[in-house]
Amino acid sequence: MSVPQNLSPDESVKRNLDAGPLIELRGVSKHYADGDVDALKRVDLAIHEGEFVAIVGPSGGGKSTLLNMLSALDEPTSGEVWFAGKLLSQQGSLDQFRAHHIGFIFQSYHLLPNLTAQENVQLTMFDTHPKVSERKAEAIRWLQRVGLGDRVNHRADRLSIGQRQRVAIARACAGGPSVILADEPTGALDRARGDEVMDLLDQIRKEDGTTLVVVTHDDRVAQRADRIIYICDGMLRAV
Ligand code: ADP
Ligand code: MG
Repeated sequence: MSVPQNLSPDESVKRNLDAGPLIELRGVSKHYADGDVDALKRVDLAIHEGEFVAIVGPSGGGKSTLLNMLSALDEPTSGEVWFAGKLLSQQGSLDQFRAHHIGFIFQSYHLLPNLTAQENVQLTMFDTHPKVSERKAEAIRWLQRVGLGDRVNHRADRLSIGQRQRVAIARACAGGPSVILADEPTGALDRARGDEVMDLLDQIRKEDGTTLVVVTHDDRVAQRADRIIYICDGMLRAV
């Protein structure tokens, strides 16, 4: 499948950044028919390039649903999602859009256990690095950057939890996304490992200018952010 003409991966987004926020939700609602739940209720939110935003709130409040909207993993029932001044629903393939612009770190990492660290990182790079030699080089470069240069050929299920998290970070970053979104990135880690992971994400953000959006229950993580967004019962509240 070819890249949509109206969203060249390299230039289109960068050109439009002057126009306003990197990601903007306008009146976004999400209704899950299963259980008849209004998980988001007319949410307005703007996130700017380079910002580090923490999303906090009680369990079931809508944090993961909000993250799914910001990352184009799911589409709203009503309302608009804008990315770099363009309406997401008009961008054609959301899979391709995500491959070029979004790095997502899942709560449970979603690594394939019987693939190596390098193979896991390469999995999401078909769109951004069509040549296998480029994919390999980029995967290894990122694994080195997250401190796993000596674990490149280890199977994911032979790695510690902290190492798996680093592979997930390398995989999220390897396509060169504009924004990294993470659902509870420190949730399964002890305090020291959690601090290391946040230091790493912060470092990547500062060096690469990546925007960072993190859902967290951990006050220490939230306090590192430029801005804390509290969501409860599908609505944003002032902190
Ligand atoms: P949080 O991440 O803050 O715990 P979620 O966004 O996961 O909250 O969930 C918000 C609400 O939407 C909850 O009531 C949850 O049960 C419901 N929900 C989340 N995902 C689904 C889904 N796929 N189908 C039906 N209901 C869902
Ligand atoms: Mg959640």
